[in-house]
Amino acid sequence: MPIPLLDLKRQYEPLRHDMEKALGEVAASQYFILGPQVEQFEKEAAGWLKVDHAVGVASGTDALLVALMALGIGPGDEVILPSFTFFATAGTVARLGATPVFVDIDPVDFNIDPEAVRARMTEKTRAIIPVHLFGQSVDLAAVFQAAGEVPVLEDCAQAWGADFDGKYVGGHGIMGAFSFFPSKNLGGFGDGGLVTTNDAEIAAALRELRVHGQSGPYLHPRVGGNFRLDAIQAAVLRVKLPHVQGWIQGRRANAMRYVDHFTRKGLEAVLGVPLALSRRGHTFNQFVIRAPRRDELRQHLIDRGIGCAVYYPLPLHLQPCFSDLGYSEGDCPVAEQASREVLALPVFPELTEPEIEEVVGAIAEFYEA
Ligand SMILES: *Cc1c(COP(=O)(O)O)cnc(C)c1O
Repeated sequence: MPIPLLDLKRQYEPLRHDMEKALGEVAASQYFILGPQVEQFEKEAAGWLKVDHAVGVASGTDALLVALMALGIGPGDEVILPSFTFFATAGTVARLGATPVFVDIDPVDFNIDPEAVRARMTEKTRAIIPVHLFGQSVDLAAVFQAAGEVPVLEDCAQAWGADFDGKYVGGHGIMGAFSFFPSKNLGGFGDGGLVTTNDAEIAAALRELRVHGQSGPYLHPRVGGNFRLDAIQAAVLRVKLPHVQGWIQGRRANAMRYVDHFTRKGLEAVLGVPLALSRRGHTFNQFVIRAPRRDELRQHLIDRGIGCAVYYPLPLHLQPCFSDLGYSEGDCPVAEQASREVLALPVFPELTEPEIEEVVGAIAEFYEA
């Protein structure tokens, strides 16, 4: 039997009844954009994450974009972010006419290197975006130290439920940006996102900006966009929210099983295996190993019907669209090395023990050959 990287059908089956009921209610209401479902979801999400305000938006990308707009980021501004992340972290900065400043990552957790942040701070630095990559919290204390007075916007897209020092990510920085892309820890039936903040004024600005910057009927103190969350997504997310803690525990249990099996097969000497670091909860949205001869291993697994993926094959400072920023190979060596070595393995909560054994067996077979 093939083992997919992600199998959302296994998550859906036990929820089918509740989901059909919730979707039926939205259909009966014919209320599709923002409205009571979204308001309820925002309350429940804020309660879950223990933040004061949660503002539903149309995607994780829009969450980052609208958060940067709320900070007034624009031309001439610099925003520091890790080179090793999903494109949207930098794309949103560039779309506002600001300059993404790419810095290197820590070799152990793949997250932004706080020392590199410190080194790239200038008088033009207007924000820092640490990304809780693969579901593991950044060392936020170190980032805040480097940031000083500069606002920190957390990219929490992959890290719903991760914590730093016992407090959920998204509640530490000036804002947190979440994604409900179906593969994230909490996924919708399509695109969706959320911005969290403990600042009431910023929350009010976000609510205006997601509706074209409208403060009252057809009155626009500033330019916003259409960044609204749909009622259908809110209804889906409300059904899923009570289960997400259990799913995260399932991901953690699977990660432990991998580490166990790798150790038993002597593979921890060959592979780089992710660690749950102290103070920093890992939710294992992705279980990412470092693998010698990565591309060959990847093909070996694909040939055996085992799903795997490379996040990310080209660091952002080397992307063609940013070539005018003047970066070259060697500028972020840790990110560059990661892009050659990383491989994400199936870790979704419903993955079974025999499936994990099969994945590890296939990896062992590759390195024994
Ligand atoms: C998924 C993701 C985003 C964007 O989210 P979308 O909902 O797909 O727009 C942003 N940043 C990171 C790190 C992500 O993984």
